[in-house]
Amino acid sequence: MTTTARAQITVTGIAQKEAWQRREMPPVEHVRPGLWSIPVIFPNNPLRYVNVYVIEVPTGVVLVDAGWPVDEAWANLNDGLASIGYDITDVEGVLVTHNHADHLGLAGRVRDASGAWVAMHRLDAEEISDQVDPAKMQLRGESWLIRAGVEIADMPSLIIDAGQFVDFGRPPQADRLIEDGERPLPGAPAIRALWTPGHSPGHLCFIDDERNVLMSGDHLLPRISPHISVHLGEEGDPLGTYLNTLNSLRGLNEYEVLPAHEYRFSGVDARVEQMNEHHEDRLSEVLTAIHEKPGSTTYEISSHLTWSHGWENTQGMLRHAAMGETLAHIVHLVNRGLIENQQIDGRLYEGQMIRTDAWFATAT
Ligand SMILES: [Zn+2]
Ligand SMILES: [Zn+2]
Repeated sequence: MTTTARAQITVTGIAQKEAWQRREMPPVEHVRPGLWSIPVIFPNNPLRYVNVYVIEVPTGVVLVDAGWPVDEAWANLNDGLASIGYDITDVEGVLVTHNHADHLGLAGRVRDASGAWVAMHRLDAEEISDQVDPAKMQLRGESWLIRAGVEIADMPSLIIDAGQFVDFGRPPQADRLIEDGERPLPGAPAIRALWTPGHSPGHLCFIDDERNVLMSGDHLLPRISPHISVHLGEEGDPLGTYLNTLNSLRGLNEYEVLPAHEYRFSGVDARVEQMNEHHEDRLSEVLTAIHEKPGSTTYEISSHLTWSHGWENTQGMLRHAAMGETLAHIVHLVNRGLIENQQIDGRLYEGQMIRTDAWFATAT
């Protein structure tokens, strides 16, 4: 009998992985000449910390991501820079992989302290501008719940309690926009941006062809799969987009992956393969749920899927995230022509959610 060995990744961030297993913060590490990783704390989150990468340029340093906007993370960043002989005032710029607060959050404070520019992809910059408009946000929130087929009886499970919500104030706006393929650092021309939408519309990876590293943000992580969701008010097929951009990393197999969370690893192709398998399994599960109960809404399909803590324990923010993830899979199945959506015009009557404009998914 022959067995096919499944390709595996190799963990290269040994000290990071050991720290992870001991539930400790990993050390600051000198990853390559002129390139360091500084872990900064991500409190009250199972990811525990964010890896900020520091790249030496002729006149100072540039950061890839900045960390979660709290004092403790700020202290980690300043102490980490001091330990490698730099000061926060030496930071010339922040390359932001995407606009989530664990990556972008501290960038404004870095800019205030050092005069650094903050750079990101246009689509993530636009999303931030939209987020500061509360009216737009409310409208999107309502249409999202309607679209998912949430009924009044379901609402208590979707209330986000204060403990799950953190007010970061106004997220830092971009000073510079980065396009796919751009080489954003004249002092380090081997570094190029690769647009990898999916986890966010403007997610960027940064590839250093001289040091052979892929700074992957949240796009490719060694242990978990990044959250792929249909965002509020968003059209399109983010899962399809993610799978496409994921597969665009093939060919970088000789590069070490420097992720924003967890630990460094090698084996891009193996990890890409695992991610494809993970999503194909989930797509099959969603398709089975739709075959069993044709005409289900996103909410109903979500409740029939397996969740790591069980659907009943998936409450509040987690339930919103779960529904977003389910809808991303449904939309992708529609795009593949495997199901169709029977959409009806929606209305919102005096705050009551009604089952219209929902995704009544049916197998074709
Ligand atoms: Zn993220
Ligand atoms: Zn993240």
